[in-house]
Parts: sequence; C-alpha cells; structure tokens
Amino acid sequence: MKTRICVPVTADTVDQAIVDLKQAEKFTDLVELRIDFIKNIDIGKLEILLKNKTKEVIVTCRPKSLNGNFIGNEKERINLLKKSIELNAEFVDIESDSDNGLIGDIIQNKKNTKIIVSYHNFKETPKLEQLANIYNDIKKLNPDLIKIVTFAGSINDNFEIFKLLKDKNDLISFCMGLRGEISRILAPKYGSCITFASLNEEKVSAPGQIDINEMDNVYNFSLINEETMVIGLIGEHAEHSKSKSIMNPSFKDLKLNFVYLTFKLTTDELPAFMKNFRQFEFAGASVTIPHKLKIIKMIDEIDETAQKIGATNTIVNKNDKLMGYNTDYYGAIEALKEKTPLNNKKALVLGAGGAARAVIYGLKKEGAGITIVNRTKEKAEKLASDFDVKFSEINNMKKLVIDNDIIVNTTSVGMVPNINESIIKEDEFVSGKIVMDIVPIPPNTKLLKIAKSAGCQVISGNRMLLHQAIKQFRLWTGQDPKFKLMESKLKLTL
Ligand code: NAP
Repeated sequence: MKTRICVPVTADTVDQAIVDLKQAEKFTDLVELRIDFIKNIDIGKLEILLKNKTKEVIVTCRPKSLNGNFIGNEKERINLLKKSIELNAEFVDIESDSDNGLIGDIIQNKKNTKIIVSYHNFKETPKLEQLANIYNDIKKLNPDLIKIVTFAGSINDNFEIFKLLKDKNDLISFCMGLRGEISRILAPKYGSCITFASLNEEKVSAPGQIDINEMDNVYNFSLINEETMVIGLIGEHAEHSKSKSIMNPSFKDLKLNFVYLTFKLTTDELPAFMKNFRQFEFAGASVTIPHKLKIIKMIDEIDETAQKIGATNTIVNKNDKLMGYNTDYYGAIEALKEKTPLNNKKALVLGAGGAARAVIYGLKKEGAGITIVNRTKEKAEKLASDFDVKFSEINNMKKLVIDNDIIVNTTSVGMVPNINESIIKEDEFVSGKIVMDIVPIPPNTKLLKIAKSAGCQVISGNRMLLHQAIKQFRLWTGQDPKFKLMESKLKLTL
C-alpha cells in the first residue's frame, strides 16, 4: 500500500475553498475539505464545493468541542456528512467521540463512500497499549479506515505511533506538533495509509503540518518507502539546522534511499531516544548542542579521532553497532585551507567548548601553533594541557590579534538570537588576518563584519558546516556527494 498525501482546504468561504481546492489538486490526488472552516456552511455550499472537485476528497466537519470550527448542532453536522455521501464524496471523516449510533448509521448507509473514524488527542500521545485499545474499539464499528492522531510532547512519542502502525493496513496515524514532524514524513516507511500536508505555511489545519512543497523539495517525500534509511540531526534546537536542506538533495542526486530529518530533543529525552534509534534501526545521525559529549556513553564504539577530540558529532549504524565519529575538525580545517595553508601559522582559538576541541585537534594536525583563550580561564588551561598547546588570559585582545595570523571564534557569541554581539571589538582588530567564525547562524556574524571592515579575510561558519557535512555523507553512504550541489543548496538557505 502506498501512502497517500492529503492536503486540507481550510478556507472560510466557498469561493476561497474552490480556489484552494484547485491549487491543492495540482499537488495531490487527495484533498480534505474541512467544511467546518467555512462560515455558515450548509447543504447548498457543500454541493457547490463538491461540484468543483476533480480529484478524490475527504469531507470533514469537526465540531468546536473537538478542536474544529463547526458551531451548528449535531443533527446539522451529521446531515452535512450524509449529504456528502449522497454527493459521492470518496471519503467522509467522523470523530470516534461522536455518538456510536450515529457513526453506525453513517457506516451502514455509506454507499460508495469510505468512512474514516478518527481519534484526535491534542494534549499528548498515549502509550502503545492505550493506543491499541483505541484502535480496537474503533475497529469494532467497522469503518473503512481508522485515524489516530496524537500530540507529540517528545520526539519519543513518534515511536509509539510507529509501533501502532505495524501490520495494519487500515490505519492513518501520526503525531501533531513540531516534535511529531518525523511521523508525518515517515508515514510511507511505517505504513500510515495517509499523511497530511498543508497547501502553504499559512494554511495549516493542525500543528506541525508541513507545507506540501517542503515535503517534496526538502524531504523527497515521494521517494520514501519501507526500505528508506533514516538519518537525522540530534539536537536541542535541531529544527533551526540547515543540514536537511543539503543532505536530502544529495541523497536524491545519487539515487540513495535515505532521508535526513531533525530530531529535536533535550538531554532528558536522549537515553530513550537512543533506545528507539537502535530498535528502529536508524542508519545514522548528526549530533549537535548539547549532546556531543553525553551521547558517547550511549553508543558502542568511538573512532580514534573522536576519542582524542572527546566529542562525537556523527553516528553511523554499522550492522546494529553504533559507531561515533567527529567530522567538525575536518570541516573547520577544510574551510580554513580554502584561504590559507596552516603549517607553521599562528592561530588564536577563542573558546574552550566541544567545537574548540575539534578545531584545535585539526589545527594541531596541520602543524599550526595554537593559543587558546576562553571566558572561563580554567577551561582554556585544561584544554591547552590536553592538547599540549598555549593558553592566554583575554585581558589584551588586541595584542592577541596582532600576534596571530589566524583567528577562529569557536564560542557561541554572536549566534542567533544575540546577533549584535562580538567576542572581539572593533578597535581590537588589525588588518591582514584570516578570521573564521564557526557560528553558522547568522552566516555573516557581527565578528565577521567587523573583521572584514578592518581589512581581514573572513570565513563563515557555513563553510565549516559544508565540509563537515560532506564527510558525514561519506561515512553514512560510502559515496561522495557533489560539492557544488551541496554548496548551492546551502546558499539557498542563507
Ligand atoms: P559549547 O561546548 O557549549 O562551548 C561554548 C563556548 O562558548 C565555551 O567556550 C563558552 O565559554 C563560550 N561562550 C558562550 N557564551 C559566551 C559569552 N557570552 N562570552 C564568552 N564566551 C562564551 O558549544 P560548542 O559545541 O563548542 O559550540 C560552539 C559554537 O560552535 C556554536 O555556535 C555552534 O553552533 C558552533 N558550531 C559550528 C559548527 C559548524 O559546522 N559551523 C560545528 C560545531 C559547532 P565558557 O567555557 O566560559 O562557558
């Protein structure tokens, strides 16, 4: 069974609904007519609307009490659904909370229409056992399709839905909310009969609904199937990442059956997520703030470089063994080497966090002389001792800038939302230096702007992101993505 993608029409007038219906039909062969959104909907308006359809439709009329917009009485609502059957709508959706007698009546008199009985939970995702009970209870009513949609408070809720979907061919199921996005995208992999996508960002009918253009342009939705290998970015603010926009086009370009998603999760959710990651045999992951250190304990083996750096930003699932790598060092070095050789150069590294460790490892490998400075001096001292390089106090930044050829900011200063901050002030720069800011968003940080106007060559954090992504891609797939393709896709996100 191939998952169908359905676009809801949520206009509040019949005229606009017809416009949106025509627009939606350009993208898909299944449209949900949310007639409860249409002001003063009545049989006449319903008739006009259904006359205008050229593809299959689901007619839905959710009452206000179930997060819909229909304010008429139950009799009027059921009449609209019955009329939709008479008018040969392909599907009619009725809520499982409706009176069982009414649902039974609709099902018995369904003619050519398929009846979907739906359960929505806008607060949470119940555990699998409870979800299975909900499914079995609805099944007793003998509908054509069962729809179970819940709210994901955690990324881990999606896995309850994936388990529920197993071995069922009459179920539409996914999670709502930002953390539920993966279940909408992976509907074809885990077997939801239908998934929903919005016509555009303004026309969502439920939280977390993805724009139909994004479904295909970013996630290659039409190529996802049971065999698709799942990769994603594990991070607390993963939703802001650009990686999905550069990885997925490269998978498509090389005809590799992979999809790259975002796994937004906190440290508390990480252990359960990694259990699910194993159980569902995800193929790999990128790892970002704040999980690069903690994740080490949750995987099976760390390669030598990642061990030396002490942080993992890449996971590869090799025959059920989770291997950890670090590609940040490679990204930083390749980005710097685009502008300068590194051997015997003097480099000032600002910051002593996980990214600083990767940058220092790479610079040292290339033969640069390194001085570390950091807000918390003890951390700089410790890092300098770990890598056998120099550290300094920050009290004379101008002298530090003058004394070095290359300056790399590895702190998060200047990153969104604090875009007006810079770790080096205007009067502390001198011309002729090479300055890299690894902060990826915004691409042109305040530090880079100041450095450029002082006459320095600048390198954006996006160059590092790009190069490290290429190395990750190779680790997951064993193939080289096209550099120019990734570069152009990254530019589109800026
Ligand atoms: P981290 O381990 O949390 O380290 C943060 C560093 O920033 C620490 O040295 C911290 O100093 C310093 N810092 C934070 N706020 C500061 C402030 N207000 N003033 C002075 N110093 C401050 O984070 P990370 O993993 O190293 O990541 C750091 C940055 O690198 C992030 O912006 C991340 O997005 C970026 N990054 C980019 C790429 C890429 O591909 N472009 C890859 C990896 C990371 P203290 O020690 O004093 O707290």
